[in-house]
Amino acid sequence: MIYAKMEHHEELVCATDFKRGHNYFCPGCKERVTYKNGPQKQAHFAHYKKTCHYFSEGETDAHVIGKKLIKLWAEKRHKQAKIEEYLPKIKQRPDVLINLRNSQLVVEYQCSPLSLDSFRKRTKGYKEHGYRIFWILGKRHMLGQRLTQQQAMFINFHKNIGYFLVYLDAEKQCLVLKYELCFENLYGLRYRTGIFTDATALMLFIKINSRNRNLALTRSELAGQLTKLEKNCHYLNRYLKNQIDYCYARRQLFMGFPLCCLSESRLPPIYQHEDIFWRIRVVLELQEVMADSITRSEIELMFMKHQKITKMFF
Ligand SMILES: [Zn+2]
Repeated sequence: MIYAKMEHHEELVCATDFKRGHNYFCPGCKERVTYKNGPQKQAHFAHYKKTCHYFSEGETDAHVIGKKLIKLWAEKRHKQAKIEEYLPKIKQRPDVLINLRNSQLVVEYQCSPLSLDSFRKRTKGYKEHGYRIFWILGKRHMLGQRLTQQQAMFINFHKNIGYFLVYLDAEKQCLVLKYELCFENLYGLRYRTGIFTDATALMLFIKINSRNRNLALTRSELAGQLTKLEKNCHYLNRYLKNQIDYCYARRQLFMGFPLCCLSESRLPPIYQHEDIFWRIRVVLELQEVMADSITRSEIELMFMKHQKITKMFF
């Protein structure tokens, strides 16, 4: 670990600021730790015993340590930071309040679940009083293969890294960035991951990362989607089965759909299901309502227009 507690001090101390003659403790289990510094690894603290089981116990403790880390990282950037400072005007107590040059930044380290309503209220309260707000998430909200509504409401956007979420791993004492979030037909949610030792490293990455804006899918990627679709038809997950039944009820073959139902680019992470499903429904409805008066190329043109609109979200 990079940060430990010095005896008689509440604050965390970075291993690079280690001073001889003091005892240091794990911020989690409170066991004494030893200082290590060698040519192979950067300065760090280590438990005498191999393991620390502290963090598996609860998110409250991770929350306490996370707030301290955020404060320390802000101070390393020469910013004044306070933990749980009461703001009487809005009757709120932000996890960490950081003084920036021209504004104040509220950092909320969200480890527990939060309803959309409370999220809105809290964000609104801060914004109305001129505070900037940034959410850092705890382990519970970690991205998997699907995007939940809980995770979706915390998504940010930056021109250099696209849609992103920031996590703080209180146990490993690092920041985890999930970026370039997008949807791809049949593959669901896709993103890249970066791990950073502190806020400075994360901010530098965001600043210098030039985004791979190539959102268009290649021919082979599209072919891969088609193969996967064919395979999935046999596995029949419930959602896909509903789609196939829906087509069947209209005397149509699910696999007989025009290629324009497969989007040619990656999509912003705003859909619950892949866009192929609603595209197929649109084609079915059009064919039903307009019978032969709509041509295949007219349908393709319509989807091309939609593609332009989606690109505006990236
Ligand atoms: Zn420990």
